[in-house]
Amino acid sequence: LINTIQSLVGVDLDNFVPYPVVDGKSTNGGYCGPAVKPIALNMVKNCAQHRGVNIPISGIGGVENWRDATEYLLLGASNVQVCTAVMHYGFGIIREMIAGLESYMQEKGFHQLEDFIGKALPNVKTWENLNLHYEVKAHIDPAKCIQCQLCYTACEDGAHQAIGLPGEGRIPYIIEENCVGCNLCSLVCPVENCITMVRKDDGTHSENWKDFVAAGKAPDTFEDQRAGGLGHWVPAPASALERKK
Ligand code: SF4
Ligand code: SF4
Repeated sequence: LINTIQSLVGVDLDNFVPYPVVDGKSTNGGYCGPAVKPIALNMVKNCAQHRGVNIPISGIGGVENWRDATEYLLLGASNVQVCTAVMHYGFGIIREMIAGLESYMQEKGFHQLEDFIGKALPNVKTWENLNLHYEVKAHIDPAKCIQCQLCYTACEDGAHQAIGLPGEGRIPYIIEENCVGCNLCSLVCPVENCITMVRKDDGTHSENWKDFVAAGKAPDTFEDQRAGGLGHWVPAPASALERKK
């Protein structure tokens, strides 16, 4: 899992033919390489967790280095295959993959592949089994900030309006009351470790969605403030958003 995914690369806007073009016509190409790895990892996990699958699983899709290979093994593949990366870099990358994997196994104290095949599977749950009290908030390091304000735009237009702009200067600040810890700002920030996600709960309280529903705490209408309310619900203190004006 998995081989190529049917795809069209694009469309020739002047001649109205999708790519790849063969004598003026097109057909599906096969999408492969690093872009398909997240899809393939999820499928390997699905098979490995499925009680009905009792055959060895081979991981393939975007394997370029020992880390990629190890990720497949940790999610239940017992071997991996490499194709696109060899087409790019040649068979030499296999030597590097073996050396990297051996070093990883030494560091972790693993003696054979079976010691860690599927080791990440118990940590993959369905969403309703995740802890709703796990709370992280974004934190901006002013010393690293280059004041591009990409984080502000992303959170304002694509997340939870939890980043404010100061009256003076250009370094944004986090409105903690609104931050849901979605991580979007840290992904768009061009400076490494400028925005970090900081854990705020003490880790002692765990309650998942099923517990939530059983306790009657789940919102059942969009108007319910616990669901975010109509438009954007501003948690107390309600003045949180006004601070950025
Ligand atoms: S995206 Fe990063 S560097 Fe840019 S303003 Fe925000 S915190 Fe600063
Ligand atoms: S983590 Fe999400 S909600 Fe919080 S400040 Fe960043 S983008 Fe906004």
